Amino acid sequence: MILPMALSKNVLALFPDDYNSARESFNSLSKSCPMVKDILSFPLQSQGNDLSLSTEIIWIGQRSAPNVLVLISATHGVEGFVGAAVQADLITRIQQGYLIPENTAILLVFALNPYGFAHCRRCDEKGIDLNRNFIDFNKLLPENKGYELLRQAIYLDDSHQRQKVFQAFQLEHGQTAFEIAISGGQYTDPQGPFYGGSTLSHGRTIIEKIIGTYQLDQRHLAVIDVHSGLGSYGHGEVISDHPVDSSGHKIANRWYGASVTSPAEGDSSSVEKIGLLDYCWHPLMTQRGCFVTLEFGSYRTQALFDVILNDHRCWKAGNQQDIIESAKAMKEHFCPADSYWRELVLIKARQVIQQAVDGLHYD
Ligand SMILES: [Zn+2]
Repeated sequence: MILPMALSKNVLALFPDDYNSARESFNSLSKSCPMVKDILSFPLQSQGNDLSLSTEIIWIGQRSAPNVLVLISATHGVEGFVGAAVQADLITRIQQGYLIPENTAILLVFALNPYGFAHCRRCDEKGIDLNRNFIDFNKLLPENKGYELLRQAIYLDDSHQRQKVFQAFQLEHGQTAFEIAISGGQYTDPQGPFYGGSTLSHGRTIIEKIIGTYQLDQRHLAVIDVHSGLGSYGHGEVISDHPVDSSGHKIANRWYGASVTSPAEGDSSSVEKIGLLDYCWHPLMTQRGCFVTLEFGSYRTQALFDVILNDHRCWKAGNQQDIIESAKAMKEHFCPADSYWRELVLIKARQVIQQAVDGLHYD
């Protein structure tokens, strides 16, 4: 006997095949949902490719609502397969009667990095990792000495040689230092992984704009930024990058309970990083509100680094066939085709959204 899954096939079909179908579905769901007030489109200006790409924003509920849940997808392009499914599921449920308190509005940011989503990359069209881009570019750019030591090895075609250099680094400095060297953020190598950029990205410009447009600094905020690809398979980790003694971190713990992890406290699958999107929101959250990353784990950290570094080698070398193969591997890492994995994602996302809505309403 085949037992039914927890969610129906229709729900699992909300996971898109590609960026275009995801955007089409997001827009048609938005237009048919009576609770949706604003639909805004922000085309990508400097794309240099044949795809017409944009970030879409919708506002659900009363414009004057004091509480706002902000749900963001595709900060890391390819992770938009997961984020878009979570957003489509939420709009569908609202249409079907899922009630949000009257004092709460929802702001959905679809495809913050549309280029990366469309090309199955983490970075944007300038090679920027949005989640390393929120730094003050008027100051001296941060240094990542570990990255500089590993930079040459990252581009080695010979994987045996590459692993030898990586292992030597790990032996000398430890696993955490290795992960920070690779993924903590670097500002010197635009073709390399986890590059923070030298100027504001498309995604950052949009975030700063919508904070102003919707006066989000005047409201109580629950921000959930949906990511994937890091952590245990199918597990949705709620990560707080608020300083450990801040009210934001305490609120995250109150709203999301013991599931909250903290890179600063060392219990997260993520290490501390430079230039996170979080840092732009933290100052807006005084005594109420918090920002969390909802990170869905898939394959192992080693596989994560392999697939990302390979992607950067392929794009640097420019061989089209290799780029196509890399895109397939990226999609599978960041959004496994396994229905059971996808089901876990949507169930956990529903829980976290409910916790955020309750937190805003009752806390
Ligand atoms: Zn991510």
